[in-house]
Order: sequence, then structure tokens, then C-alpha cells
Amino acid sequence: MNFLPRACWGLAAAALLRSPALAQPAAPLAPLAYHELATGASRPTGWLRTQLEIMRDHSTGHLDETYPKLRDGNGWLGGTGDGWEETPYWLDGAVPLAHLLRDKPLLAKVQRYVDWSLAHQRPSGYFGPLTKAEQVAGHLLDVQGTQGEDWWPRMVMLKVMQQHYQATHDARVIPFLTKYFRYQLANLRAAPLGQWSEWSTVRGGDNLLVAYWLYRQTGEPFLRELGEVLYQQTTPWTSLLGGRDWVMEATANQTNAHWMDRHGVNVGMGLKLPVVYAQAHPEQPQLAQALRTGWHDIMTLHGLPAGMFSADEDLHGNLPTQGTELCAVVETMFSLEQAATITGDLTYLDALERIAYNALPTQTTDDYESRQYFQVANQVQVQRGVLNFSLPFERGMNNVFGPYAGYTCCTANMHQGWAKFATHLWYATPTQGVAALEYAPNVLTTNVNGNVPVTIREETAYPFGDDITFVFDLKRPTTFPLALRLPGWCAEATLLLNGQPLRTEKGGQVITLARPWRKNDRLTLRLPMAVRTSNWARNSRTLERGPLVYALKIKENWQESRQADEGRYFTLAPASPWNYGLPHAVVDDPARAATVSVRPLAPTANGFYWNAAQAPVEITVPGRRLPDWQLAAEGVAPQPVTPRDGVYKGPVSEAIETLTFIPYGCTKLRVVALPVIP
Ligand SMILES: [Zn+2]
Repeated sequence: MNFLPRACWGLAAAALLRSPALAQPAAPLAPLAYHELATGASRPTGWLRTQLEIMRDHSTGHLDETYPKLRDGNGWLGGTGDGWEETPYWLDGAVPLAHLLRDKPLLAKVQRYVDWSLAHQRPSGYFGPLTKAEQVAGHLLDVQGTQGEDWWPRMVMLKVMQQHYQATHDARVIPFLTKYFRYQLANLRAAPLGQWSEWSTVRGGDNLLVAYWLYRQTGEPFLRELGEVLYQQTTPWTSLLGGRDWVMEATANQTNAHWMDRHGVNVGMGLKLPVVYAQAHPEQPQLAQALRTGWHDIMTLHGLPAGMFSADEDLHGNLPTQGTELCAVVETMFSLEQAATITGDLTYLDALERIAYNALPTQTTDDYESRQYFQVANQVQVQRGVLNFSLPFERGMNNVFGPYAGYTCCTANMHQGWAKFATHLWYATPTQGVAALEYAPNVLTTNVNGNVPVTIREETAYPFGDDITFVFDLKRPTTFPLALRLPGWCAEATLLLNGQPLRTEKGGQVITLARPWRKNDRLTLRLPMAVRTSNWARNSRTLERGPLVYALKIKENWQESRQADEGRYFTLAPASPWNYGLPHAVVDDPARAATVSVRPLAPTANGFYWNAAQAPVEITVPGRRLPDWQLAAEGVAPQPVTPRDGVYKGPVSEAIETLTFIPYGCTKLRVVALPVIP
């Protein structure tokens, strides 16, 4: 925490505030590519419902009862206990989950926290847990300027309030947010974002996101001024992402200097800043370009097969022995959801799908009670130790599964991953239609053409199956646009209407069908999933099929242990060999060399499939062992090197074996990036 706030930003903000341009009537923000629907407009069904119900029945639904930090004297309910980030983190996932499932007990539970914050806003506009001075005084004070406390946990609560409003239209929320943002504008000069913590400086984009959302609701000109101040006081993610030096230096450098700018969770959150700000500055195309450049560079230099970048905790290069923090996974997903809303860029929608269906499911246990702080790409064991992490911590607990192992941010923050993904399957189009931009089983109920109610039942085993059927329910035939994402991995998609071929389209685009839709119309989107390979560090190869990345299935031996400070945890040892290479012939023609066996799931099947035993798809290919590829002392399997031709030259066993691959998201032990052998 020795990174100095950049004082010049405050001066720049002050200059902007005096700028005559901002004295003009505030202009509308740039139009959004897609609009978010009401939280809970689509109800999850099938496997997605099962996933969310497991969360409700376990940690997401009960963290406030089981986790002492949230349970005891919670500051967000007026107590003198913890009042920093973890309660808002939990609510940021628990609020949308409660609305997605329309779950009364969970709705009642989260409502208490929302109500407390709404009811205890200070006259100045400040809100949140009692400050230390208020605790001494024994009552609320009219907090001003430097009497306040860290801006950061309030930023998370702003997102909670926005989602609560999007679900309920609670009339208290708009005045509450307006008053708080007035407070921010009045106080950010005396107490800038970096006043109490650097987290506020690096994460100001989330604050800006909600300020601009409110501006779209109210048009209050001061929110545009506030936007400029927040942007100027936030870490300059636009120049970091667009400038290229930062991401290259992060590959080589894991020092204390500017580490907050390389912290993987901060990077995941910072991604959205340029395009959030671009809403107010459509005249600056370099803003959208900064995210395009930055995302490309991050994934090139730090990208891992499951769709995330290394974040252990820093950006840490692209070797398959690197780790990724669960908070980085869920925060990057949220940034991509927002980038998709603002820009409509298919790159971010495809990237979101890849993370959600690969990196996300592997990092939690089936019961959603334990999680890893860092997952590793080629994870041939799950053990305590230093491993290859940039921040191993002294207890070496970062890779094990446990409710509190590593650091507890993920314990509270992981809930937003699935919950927000499930609220961002569908969007409204600016043309009064709807857009299915991520696919999963659900039922959408919304209005089209302004006020025409429509229900669309999405029946699918996706991402395991390749058919998605939309069944329409409306009172009378209605013409409205239906936009569909055809993923970049798909060569050619086929559409059938009521069993009859409608059209075929190339993948890598969003298409729009504007036609009359009738009750019981069945529109089927078929996205053929051919087996293909992708290239990763040291000329390794990954098998992919459709939206899923595949990893070598390794038999898991689970062992439960306890650590004095971090509690119950699980380690996993491999009980089958893992040191295999992929023959060149498989890489040359994977569709021909691989055998795919799909266990058909009924489109309405509501089981749990994210583990090795239940994996609905298996791919088998021939392979041979590399006897020299072994675990190193620090507990990782160093990736073998190959010469330029990409073919491993070390010893390879004679015996040809049949290797079984399952979806990465179904594995806990795996090899996902394999050397190529002759
Ligand atoms: Zn975390």
C-alpha cells in the first residue's frame, strides 16, 4: 500500500470543473448498444436454476449466518462490526440471486441491508456504516468531507442499490443516489478518491458506472460534472490499456511499484472504465479503442485457456502454471457485461461466455461452500505451497479449496458471477425488441414494442448441447426484432422455425430477425460444435469444442484438513497419470482425430453437471506419456519447452493410450495446455 495518489489528477479535475463547456446544459449520453432488462426478467431453468438454487441453499443464501465477519455486529446494519467491502460484495450477488429465484426468505434477508442504508443516509448525503466518530458519539452525525470513510465499499453498495432498483423500482433509491452523488461532488476535492484507500482510486470506474446510470434516469446535469471528477481521480486505465507499455511491463515486473495497477482484480474492474466514460464522450473514439487494445494485449501476454488472464495476485504472464483469483474472474465478467451493454462488441460477449463456462465453474465446490483463491490452468494437484504465484502468502493456502482459504474477498464476492451472468442472458434492443446474447436455459418475460407482453422459453442443454430453442408465448401475432449472438467459434449457424429451415448465417455476428412471432412458434438455433485446438504458452495446445475448453480428466483424491487461521480446507492429489502429449496428427485434424461422446441432456434437465462424474461431454484422442514431465519442488508441473516447429523433442513413451477430456469447468484436477508430440 505504498503507492502514492497522483496529486495531479485532483488539479486536473478542478480545472475541468471550471471549464466553461460544463456550464452548458448537459447533453444526453451516447445511446447504449443494448439495454439491461429488469433484474429477474428472465427466470433461470434447467441446469442454471440448479446452480443458483445450490447457491441459495448454501453460501450465497446463508453467508450472513455462517461467516463471523458478516454475522457479528454487521456495520451495514448499524453495528460496530465490519463495515468495509465484504457485506456489499455478498449483497452484489445475493440481491440479483433473490430476484432471479423470486425467493422470499432471501429477498427478506437482503432487504434489511438495503433498508438500513436507505433509512440512515446522513443529511449531507453520506451513507453507510457508522464512522468511528459516530460510534464514539453514539449517534449519526452529518458527515462531511474528511470526516467520511473509505469511498470504496460504498461503490459496491451503489451497484447493489442499482440492481435493487432495477428489480423493484423502489421509489427511495433515485433520491438516495442523487443525494449521495451530490455529496460526492461537493466533497471529492477535499477528500479525493485516494483519501482513505488506493482501492477507491483504482476502482472508481464502478462509481462512475452508477453515476452515469442515474444520469440516464434523471438527466441531472451535476452528474456529468461528477463523472468528470471521478474519471480524473481514477487510475488512468484508458492510457494504461490503450498505451501498451503497462501490459508489457507487467509481464516482466512484479515489484511493489504501482502494484495496484497490476493487481488482477483491479485490472478486471478497470477494463470497463474507458467505455463507461465513453458514454459521455462519444467524440473520443480512442476510449473504445483503449479497451479493444487492452483486452487484446492482456489476453496475448497474460491469457490462459479458460478465458481469463493470470491474476495471482498480479498479472503474471501466460504460463499454464499461473493462477487466477476468483474475484478477478467475477469482476472481469461484470466488466464484460457492461462493455457489451455499452458497445455491443461481440468480442466481449464471446469473452464473457468463455469465462462463464470455463473459468468460473471450476473454482467452487459442488455445494458452493468452498472455493479457491487462485485456480491454476494446468492444475495437476491442489496443494498448499508457494506454487508459481506472484503473491503466495506465508501460509501457502491460495490454491486449496476452503470457505476462507487464501484471502476472504472471494468468499464474499464470488456470488455475483453466476447471478449477474443469469441477469445478462437477455437485453432489450434500442428498437423495442429483445436480444439473446448469452445462452442458457431460462424463461424471459418482458415487454416488446413498448407495452406488448411476451414470454420466451429458452430450452437448451447449452453449453453442453448445440441446439437452443426459443418458444414464444404472446396473446396475438406481434412483429418485433429478436437479436441473436452467433459466437465467433461457430463456422455456420442454422435457424429453423417450427422445424422448417429458415436461414443459415456465418458465426461471429449478432443477427436480427424482425418478423411476426406467434404463440407457440418454435425457433431453433443450431450452433454446430466442431472439435478444434488453440495455441497457448510454449507451443502447447488446448482442445476446444463450441464454447467449452476441454481438459484431461484426472482421477481426484480429496483430503480434508484444518488450518488454524483459515479453517477447513481440501487438497486434491492425482490418482491417475497426467503427463501426456497430444500427437501431431490430432493437432493437424482434431475434428477427424477426436471422438466426441455426448450424453444427451433433456433441454429441461435440471441436474448439476459441473463435475467430473456428471460431465455430459467427453472427447477421446490418442496420446502418449512424457516421462520427464514431472512435478517440480514448488508444486507445479513446469510446462515443457518445444523448438520452433512446436514438437516436443524429449523422451516420449512408446505406448499409445486413449486420453479422455472433459469440459474444463467440470474439472478440479486437469491438464488443459498439452505439449505436441510426434
Ligand atoms: Zn478475491
